[in-house]
Amino acid sequence: MKTDIKAFTFEQLNTAVRELSQPAFRAKQIFKWLHKEGCGTFDEMTDLSKALRKRLEEDYFISCCKIEEKYVSRIDGTVKYLFRLYDGEFIESVIMKYKYGYTICVSSQVGCKMGCTFCASTLAGFRRNLTAGEIESQIHAAQKDLGIRISHIVMMGIGEPLDNYENVLHFLSNVNHENGLNISMRNITLSTCGIVDKIYDLMNRDLQFTLTVSLHAPNDEIRSRTMPVNRRYPVDTLLNACREYGEKTGRRVSFEYTLIKGVNDSEENALELSEKLRGSLCHVNLIPVNDVAERANVRSTKESVLKFCNLLKRYGINATIRRTLGADINASCGQLRAVRLEKAE
Ligand code: SAH
Repeated sequence: MKTDIKAFTFEQLNTAVRELSQPAFRAKQIFKWLHKEGCGTFDEMTDLSKALRKRLEEDYFISCCKIEEKYVSRIDGTVKYLFRLYDGEFIESVIMKYKYGYTICVSSQVGCKMGCTFCASTLAGFRRNLTAGEIESQIHAAQKDLGIRISHIVMMGIGEPLDNYENVLHFLSNVNHENGLNISMRNITLSTCGIVDKIYDLMNRDLQFTLTVSLHAPNDEIRSRTMPVNRRYPVDTLLNACREYGEKTGRRVSFEYTLIKGVNDSEENALELSEKLRGSLCHVNLIPVNDVAERANVRSTKESVLKFCNLLKRYGINATIRRTLGADINASCGQLRAVRLEKAE
């Protein structure tokens, strides 16, 4: 079995190159080809000798994402890809254009184990983790296809990033590297359903990205019903971790709150949420739930979303309603993969 050379961090690549009795500057050359240029083959690495390229080919492969399907929104230009991986698995990425540049939403796993009841990613079950190289390849494939440079990353695609922790850390280190895409940590957002022990670990690493937590409920009763992870890490445990994270790192944690009619969108829910978040350095993103055909969730009305938002603000909580992009192209995570697998059955 060959190893994915694109999954190595800069330090690991240095070690691997040293083991091939190559001078240290070769590691930098190879790293640039892999991560800055996004090369898919060793033959593209024209400043390496043929013999070295052959040697690398024998031991390693370069992970890549092949475009299987592509959709462009007529409303706002959002692009969604269904990518095929080397083993025939599928993942999704979305590219959104904002005033400040292009943002990509990347997947971190093939499928998801977390089982949130409103989410499409979990429908077809969990298949495997993505390597750091495969997570990054989504960016290279999109940049090449669209002829653009991506400046911002959100880890909000398929999968739970903190359930693929090592690989995600390697990915972050590589995209942030000066010899790679050199994307600032400040332009990266990582979204988690709330794996508390990993939140503490991240806190101690003090990386500069934005942490956002999918909260979606003000109490254990509702949260455990919609998000099984809550049975392991209940709301208070999670919020304590987030509070500590904010205090220790000085960076505010964001919360995502998907509004589902009759489930978590009442006035009482807004009051309970305000009380729980009072005094925390945080921001709440309110998201009207996206329809997922297989899920029976109903989107809250515009009025109740507004009311929910205003109630939070009145109680001193920073809150905004998220703009929806790509509504005409099934842009929310997991939808394309789920449809694709259904077709294959
Ligand atoms: N596993 C991570 C990241 C992936 S999901 C996490 O849970 O945060 C990215 C965000 O989309 C999460 O907040 C998730 O709860 C939300 N989401 C999933 N399905 C949705 C739907 N049908 N409508 C609106 N938001 C949804």
